[in-house]
Amino acid sequence: MTVVVVGGGPAGMMAAIAAAENGNTVTLIEQNDKLGKKLFLTGKGRCNLSNACPVEELFDNIVRNPKFMYSAIYGFDNTAVTDFFTDCGLLLKTERGQRVFPKSDHSSDVIKALRTKLDRLGVKVMLQTRLIECKTVNNGEKDSISAVIVKNANGKREIKTDSVIMATGGCSYKTTGSDGSAFLMLEKMGIKITDPEPSLVPFSCDDKCITDMQGLSLKNISVTVSQGKKTLYSGFGEMLFTHFGLSGPLILSASSYVRQDDYKKGIKVSIDLKPALSEEELDARILRDFEEYMNRDFGNSLGKLLPAKLIASVIKRCGIDPTKKVNSVTRAERKKLCETLKSFDIEVRGNRGFEEAIITRGGVNVSQIDPSSMECKSINGLYFAGEMIDVDALTGGFNLQIAWSTGHLAGTSCNV
Ligand SMILES: Cc1cc2nc3c(=O)[nH]c(=O)nc-3n(C[C@H](O)[C@H](O)[C@H](O)COP(=O)(O)OP(=O)(O)OC[C@H]3O[C@@H](n4cnc5c(N)ncnc54)[C@H](O)[C@@H]3O)c2cc1C
Repeated sequence: MTVVVVGGGPAGMMAAIAAAENGNTVTLIEQNDKLGKKLFLTGKGRCNLSNACPVEELFDNIVRNPKFMYSAIYGFDNTAVTDFFTDCGLLLKTERGQRVFPKSDHSSDVIKALRTKLDRLGVKVMLQTRLIECKTVNNGEKDSISAVIVKNANGKREIKTDSVIMATGGCSYKTTGSDGSAFLMLEKMGIKITDPEPSLVPFSCDDKCITDMQGLSLKNISVTVSQGKKTLYSGFGEMLFTHFGLSGPLILSASSYVRQDDYKKGIKVSIDLKPALSEEELDARILRDFEEYMNRDFGNSLGKLLPAKLIASVIKRCGIDPTKKVNSVTRAERKKLCETLKSFDIEVRGNRGFEEAIITRGGVNVSQIDPSSMECKSINGLYFAGEMIDVDALTGGFNLQIAWSTGHLAGTSCNV
């Protein structure tokens, strides 16, 4: 059987390897001049390639359509991924949060391991070659793949093939090659696409306090993101104020639960700056600080409680005169201060778009794909893998696990 894999990212490379190991003649097409351009950027250049949690927990970290992933993950789980790379001669290590990285801390070593394996298996890699069209024939009730048309410096060319594995990625970080153009092509073929949206993406905000606080990183805080009365996300951890708004692990995770429509309706981030303390405990804590700073102005009394960059905004919001002596701050004013600290609210205008989104939510609707093989239900011989499928996960190596698992399943299925 001949297989054409489109997209030389993690999903496509894994699919090509699995298809070649199954005895197929495989061609891998990539429009860039090298493989794994996005993979190179992952994990800040270190490539968090999977997560060593118990396999069931992988599903807890998949935000959209986790059940669709059962066959793919149980067929090639996180242990299979680490075994695969170890067999390729790549040493791995596990860090905080069970995140798996190459021991060398270089994503380029992951790409090298994959490239070596592709070469050993005799996969023909065509770089700077772009898929233009998938051709089908109808010899019965369903269409079947017959060929692809590709374009490169030598012009257009038709390659006859039994199967095509589409692994063209999403729409984020376009400069890496994932430009979403394949979605338009697939829609023309009658395949349902769920609108792609940026995810794992920072929030932009207009609140003036952002400028005062840019560069401030808050640890051990909790965040609740809501749209009207509806809570979209709550979590505990770390976040960052930037020149445009909010970022950091908690905010990126929160963005996975916010739809584009929610931004339009208006969403709010509420930060609990002291999640370990109840309001009463916090009040007692503030009273202790006030006793210590009895003769100071209120504006100079919060240094022990809060990071310097937060103080001005907290004072502004709680409405207490900063020149007032600490010993004359009233109980009602302290209550307002506690409320501000427990619920520091920031309105969100939108997100930073595909340019800054770690992943794309949406893509090929899972109703179009047989989850046991990754084959398109309406076209024989057409398979999907990786981020282009409407499945997305939180940070921690889970998105690459999706790419490896779906790539492996598509590659092993396509000569059945
Ligand atoms: C900055 C950043 C850091 C990240 N870090 C991590 C991390 O540490 N861990 C993690 O799990 N995930 C991480 N991710 C997410 C992860 O990189 C993606 O989920 C993953 O790369 C998706 O793999 P893919 O093969 O499906 O798509 P991609 O990696 O996007 O590859 C798709 C490929 O298809 C090619 N292509 C597209 N259209 C065509 C066409 N018509 N013809 C030919 N070729 C085409 C593109 O050029 C591209 O090379 C990160 C993402 C970013 C942006």
